[in-house]
Amino acid sequence: MADWKETLNLPRTGFPMKANLPTSEPQTIARWEAMDLYGRLRKARQGAPKYILHDGPPYANGDIHLGTALNKVLKDFVVRARSMAGYDAPYVPGWDCHGLPIELRVDRELGPKRREMSVGEFRRACRAYAARFVDIMREQFKRLGGIGDWAHPYLTMNNAYVATIVRGLGAFARQGAVYKGKKPVHWCIHCRTALAEAEVEYEDHASPSIYVEFPLSPSSAAELAARLPELRGKPVSVLIWTTTPWTIPSNLAVAFQPTFTYGVYPAGDTNVIVAEDLAPQVQRVIRRPWGAPIAHVEGRLLEGIRFRHPLYDRDSVGVLADYVTLDQGTGAVHTAPGHGADDFVTGVRYGLEVYAPVGPGGHFDDTVGIFAGQGVFDANPHIEEALASRGRLWHRESFTHAYPHCWRCHNPVIFLATPQWFIAMDANELRARALDAVHHVSWVPPWGEERIGGMVANRPDWCISRQRYWGVPIPAVDCLDCHEPTLTADLAERAAGVFEREGADAWYDRPIEEFLPDGFRCPKCGGRRFERERNILDVWFDSGSSHEAVLSGVWPDLRWPADLYLEGSDQYRGWFQSSLLVALGTRGSAPYGEVVTHGFFVDEQGRKMSKSLGNTIEPDEIIGKSGAEILRLWVAMADFREELRVGPEILARVVEAYRKLRNTCRILAANLYDFDPAADMVPLAELPEIDRYALARYGAAARRIIEAYEHYEFPSIFHALNTLATVDLSAFYIDVCKDRLYTLAPKSASRRAAQTAMFTVVDGLARLMAPIVPMTADELWGFVPGTREESVHLALFPGPLEPLLDEELVERWTRLIEIRDQVNVAIEARRKDKLIGNSLAAKVTLEASGDSAALLDRYRSDLPGIFIVSEVELRQLTAGSQQPTGGSHVSVSVNRADGVRCERCWRYVPAVSTDPRHLGVCDRCVEALAETQRT
Ligand SMILES: [Zn+2]
Ligand SMILES: [Zn+2]
Ligand SMILES: [Zn+2]
Repeated sequence: MADWKETLNLPRTGFPMKANLPTSEPQTIARWEAMDLYGRLRKARQGAPKYILHDGPPYANGDIHLGTALNKVLKDFVVRARSMAGYDAPYVPGWDCHGLPIELRVDRELGPKRREMSVGEFRRACRAYAARFVDIMREQFKRLGGIGDWAHPYLTMNNAYVATIVRGLGAFARQGAVYKGKKPVHWCIHCRTALAEAEVEYEDHASPSIYVEFPLSPSSAAELAARLPELRGKPVSVLIWTTTPWTIPSNLAVAFQPTFTYGVYPAGDTNVIVAEDLAPQVQRVIRRPWGAPIAHVEGRLLEGIRFRHPLYDRDSVGVLADYVTLDQGTGAVHTAPGHGADDFVTGVRYGLEVYAPVGPGGHFDDTVGIFAGQGVFDANPHIEEALASRGRLWHRESFTHAYPHCWRCHNPVIFLATPQWFIAMDANELRARALDAVHHVSWVPPWGEERIGGMVANRPDWCISRQRYWGVPIPAVDCLDCHEPTLTADLAERAAGVFEREGADAWYDRPIEEFLPDGFRCPKCGGRRFERERNILDVWFDSGSSHEAVLSGVWPDLRWPADLYLEGSDQYRGWFQSSLLVALGTRGSAPYGEVVTHGFFVDEQGRKMSKSLGNTIEPDEIIGKSGAEILRLWVAMADFREELRVGPEILARVVEAYRKLRNTCRILAANLYDFDPAADMVPLAELPEIDRYALARYGAAARRIIEAYEHYEFPSIFHALNTLATVDLSAFYIDVCKDRLYTLAPKSASRRAAQTAMFTVVDGLARLMAPIVPMTADELWGFVPGTREESVHLALFPGPLEPLLDEELVERWTRLIEIRDQVNVAIEARRKDKLIGNSLAAKVTLEASGDSAALLDRYRSDLPGIFIVSEVELRQLTAGSQQPTGGSHVSVSVNRADGVRCERCWRYVPAVSTDPRHLGVCDRCVEALAETQRT
């Protein structure tokens, strides 16, 4: 007997079943680089409308981790998708190169050598370190499959960039917004530097919690008696509460809420002032009951009343402040203007000294007497002792609370007033303009608007100076005659010019005269001798200037403002905010039209990833074991706005989803080995309904996917791709097409029709999945027939899709497929009974009523193909049968097919050929064989 298998058009393709991504991905990436895919794409989109995603610069100080990988992958989804939607969407990656993290690492690497180095030499070591990590991270980012101008990234340490930063600062100076003042800032005594808001992290910390008595000053006795005659001649005190005993030596005032009622309670040998609503709680905590109050007093009446400092021979004055609350403490708030933001504001209002007797390393100076030289945290118990020995410490306990810590060294930070440079939030209406700009930006998710708005509304002036070396020098000068610090736009411009030519190290290497504008004099005393400022700029000012340094013409592909900033949700207080403020200083509007944020990683149990829990996963692990495409597909499947769970089980599910998608694409491509779209495409109107149904399902999915790309709804993209591949194609369309594709003559119209649909779908699938799995899509692209762009990434999303859509047809076929499911269940049962093996051995009898009967009748001749059986008999359900006749109903019975099996197509037919040339073959197959031979 002939081997008929040889005569079937069985699928074949070079597109491998097994992806082997860890090996194939680097080859794809090398191919893109060799063909200059990025450059080719820029040329292909020349003149198209621009779409600018501006990259937020990661720190160049270590290997990438899963969080940085997530961020870059999401950006790549957007850049590739916008490009396929027809935009010219360049992507220039950047790195943040200055700053404390790098300085500390270089310090550690250098060890004792560091002490012998000049500032310039140390800065050059930092530069080399940053450059090294730019190279390392660049390779790691490229390995994720991201497209971009990797050869020309922006670096915040480059001369032109640094000049832009300094000019931006000059713009603020021109508006009178830059000032130097002594002001409490978050200060790390370990790193010896001021910290930005974004650089402190709140962690639990056990602090002492103490209640301290301040007795009434004899100098105020008469005044208090005049306001409250009940207190005449009576001893009076006020009780404060604090968790920082070391700030007691700096106490200058006690703040009261003007609208609260305070009680004066007999307590031992004094009468103590405490907010009435807090008195019961305070008595409970200090375990000392008081008598009924002998007087009531409104807070506003305590303004100007003087109390004695509990340790020093000086007074502490009663002041009023709105921020005093009833949440904790006594309602009388210990106030040290040198060590607290609120305290400072109150101190300024009352003309108090900004007294901060603490050095940069956290040690007390001589003005505090017995505590001089002690570290502030070490001094806590000594201060408590001193208070106790004077009888002023009424209670102490330990108190665990969220306390600010340094993001670098994780030590608790302090508030310390030091001379710092600031950008005034209220100069030139910066705050008001920033709040207004926030409303004109689109925030995804929408709560971002409120979050950043709240932060801008409440933030203090921007402290822009840092006491470090590796950064952009603040081009200010101090007058040697009167010590006035000066920073003007002219000074900034002069420095920018030098930095542009020679780099910022020049600030430390060159004579000061080179940085002074011609004829420059001290604006205060007219002096002409100056010393240079030693502080550098906050790195957030560096990265916040990126839009100005990168989008304003240096990269000719780009333009200002950006369409999109896309970063982790921690950037509301970081880069989103600093970029906004810098842009308002330089341009008067926001640097972005839209801001999208993503969440962070947790493990499969929802726990934060940390080295100590041992549940971290490095991107390398995933890439090496499964491939970057798996990492990318997983990012697409997860809702990036929330916390993202990742772990071995989740990744195994992603691998399985990838495998299914790949196999569907593979079988489609494999059925096109002899299809030439230029010659063999069948016009849509001539396609059988089933092919048009497949195209309608595909068209609807494609439309949803393209829309979802536009709105960053990546999980719906994955869902649509997955449903199309597994449900519509794999479980239905591809299955029912097999008979036509394999057994008919290769060029028969019916086979070409199925190929037309499959070609359209696989060509579209490659394009639609290209932003998410770019390497797989491009590999597939090479196995889809027809002349096409060299890479799918030079192509556009599929279109037009409208002609493919046909809701009515989809509705009819959806009902047919429901009946098919019913038939499949019945066939499966017969298979279990061993009545039949292959479904082609079955004959299906359908009894139907109502609409279903009409529908089935209409598709009578298609039904064997749809069910993949040899025979289908239709019967009108009669009134006499047991089934209900009303409505639309179908009942199914399955029997062995009549007739004999064709040895070639396995269908059962009434008779097969007895001709020895095609013995045992059905008429249809005889015809197909004849037709094949003719051509
Ligand atoms: Zn620190
Ligand atoms: Zn001067
Ligand atoms: Zn046959």
